[in-house]
Amino acid sequence: MPDALPPADLPITESDAEIARALESANLPTLMMSLVHLTGDASLLEGPHRPGPAALAAASDGIDAAGRSEILQQAAKALREYRDRGCTLPPPPSDETIRRMMSFQVGEHVPDEYVPMMLEEMALDGSDARAVAWPAGSAEARRGLHVVVIGAGMSGLLSAIRLQEAGIPYTLVEKNDAVGGTWYENRYPGCRVDVANAFYCYSFEPNHAWTQFFSERDEIHAYFERVSHKYGIHEKIRFQTEVRSAKWDEASCTWSVVLRSADGSEETLAASAVISAVGQLNRPNIPDVPGRERFDGPAFHSAQWPEGLDLTGKRVAVVGTGASAFQLVPEVAKTAKQLFVLQRSAPWMLPNPAYHKKVDAGTRWLLEHVPYYGRWFRFLRFWPGSDGLLPSLRVDPDWPHPERAVNAMNDQVRVSFIAYMRAQLGGDEELLAQVTPSYPPFGKRILQDNGSWLGALCRDNVELVSQGLREVTPGGVVCEDGRELDVDVIVYATGFHANKFLWPMEVVGRSGEALAEHWGDDPAAYLGITVPGYPNLFCLYGPATNLAHAGSIIFHSECQVRYVMASLRALCVDGHDALDCKPAVAEAYDARLQAEHRTLVWSHPGMDSWYKNASGRVTTTSPWRLVDYWGWTREPASEDYEWLDADPPR
Ligand code: NAP
Repeated sequence: MPDALPPADLPITESDAEIARALESANLPTLMMSLVHLTGDASLLEGPHRPGPAALAAASDGIDAAGRSEILQQAAKALREYRDRGCTLPPPPSDETIRRMMSFQVGEHVPDEYVPMMLEEMALDGSDARAVAWPAGSAEARRGLHVVVIGAGMSGLLSAIRLQEAGIPYTLVEKNDAVGGTWYENRYPGCRVDVANAFYCYSFEPNHAWTQFFSERDEIHAYFERVSHKYGIHEKIRFQTEVRSAKWDEASCTWSVVLRSADGSEETLAASAVISAVGQLNRPNIPDVPGRERFDGPAFHSAQWPEGLDLTGKRVAVVGTGASAFQLVPEVAKTAKQLFVLQRSAPWMLPNPAYHKKVDAGTRWLLEHVPYYGRWFRFLRFWPGSDGLLPSLRVDPDWPHPERAVNAMNDQVRVSFIAYMRAQLGGDEELLAQVTPSYPPFGKRILQDNGSWLGALCRDNVELVSQGLREVTPGGVVCEDGRELDVDVIVYATGFHANKFLWPMEVVGRSGEALAEHWGDDPAAYLGITVPGYPNLFCLYGPATNLAHAGSIIFHSECQVRYVMASLRALCVDGHDALDCKPAVAEAYDARLQAEHRTLVWSHPGMDSWYKNASGRVTTTSPWRLVDYWGWTREPASEDYEWLDADPPR
């Protein structure tokens, strides 16, 4: 730990009574961590009050009322003293104490291998540990690069921030007229993040101003807007510009990147490297059913919600019951006259009472004023969703009921999820049967729920129709069983072309083969980032990097961008022009990846999902422990790559 720890963001000037009032909102395990920082005394780690294990959506911290009262009094005293001495802190806890604090806060042993990863995530010492350090003397080589970044969503902005910090010239191209990617495009009612906002933000740019623990779309989008301005990225973005193609030129070791602007004009840029930050969920997938174009009313994909659409008095069909439908159906149900929800397969939901909860004034004050409160709160929320869930998703070959669960623990989860649903349905066993998935829990993306989904399905104006869509007529939809539903509006909450990475760009590599053909229906990349034969092409959120068990995509992007920057550093330092992943390295990685996936719930044959390709192979989602992926992506191993030089030399 460095010597100087920064104080909390804002100094405390509030009265004793105001401090005490704010403390009523405290999350005790987090407050106890701040107490160690405030007092320099770690003896409470040995005291009688210990938090229980942090669960994904824990309702209780495991400390009784008397313990709570005692800790709040200690904290009030410590904060008053901190205020009265001018908001200075004692020397920081030692590394060893920090390790003990971690295990104490989450109520279980945090293995050593996780400590450095989590310290980075928390940025406890105020440093931006995932930024790549550059050796002296490399500035000229950096200035000689030109990187094209495709997409100004979360990953593209992150790339631009890192390139800018490194002094590497870049062009950031964005097809929309604003930043934010998926958070810009998705505006359907009810759209919100379903990963806790405490860590759904960059590690180096924490935000204490979220108004909800799982914030709505506008706030997330505003965060990315703000970051893009703060880092001076925004004004440099080429908005409303698409990358049409990128072709590798072996002699010059450059990519020739063709851009098309909104007016149709084209321009070609030479790039020493290309970073694809286009995401996995950005090309809407509308089922190709007969009659779609004949429908009389508005019909649109969930990610293309028409501005100002008023559904009052309308009959609406929502097709699909994935994450998007799960959020928009409860909202549409409030205004539509009649809502039909077409469900082909039911989703599993994870009870989370805090899902729609607002951040109260006391919590906001604590986050802003109490030293390290926000950092430890991030850790507390990150930890239960790091790797602890993975064992419960692993297939037990001896488990006797593979049709309903992958192991005994997964089966217990199934029982508890069904009990949670039954408790909401007032004895309606028919509806319970309809909403109970036929595949193991976590087989598809698990959906955060606070009761709003079943609440909506139980409304008089809502009908859950357990049928797929077969056809569209001018006045409605026809279900697979032939039932016709008369509707005025159709919402296709039918997902995205997730398996078509980088599509529809044409990316042509060393052999002249287009990446789309090379991949076919089976996209794969080494660490999800580099593809043999496509030098200096870096994918962010590429094949098999979606997270379905843990963490956040922001965490994964930070790992990937560090790897990309370390790759560029290796080029600059060693004087090469390009790196190309060795085919044997990528093949061995993919073989390990596939073997790992065969042991996990997402490969279960009982369901289709956007995690799988047409042949059932999981292509989009990572099977790895976060801590492993974090370790593998710290920097490229020289022996994994062929290092290329331009001819003639640049
Ligand atoms: P999705 O999970 O792929 O769901 C698509 C839905 O459409 C499925 O229920 C699917 O049924 C259904 N469907 C497709 N074709 C159909 C047809 N012909 N007839 C009837 N139903 C049909 O897509 P999504 O809901 O947009 O979510 C995609 C991903 O985006 C999520 O998993 C998540 O990663 C992300 N997302 C995140 C958030 C968030 O963080 N808040 C919100 C929304 C989305 P089957 O299941 O039977 O195939």
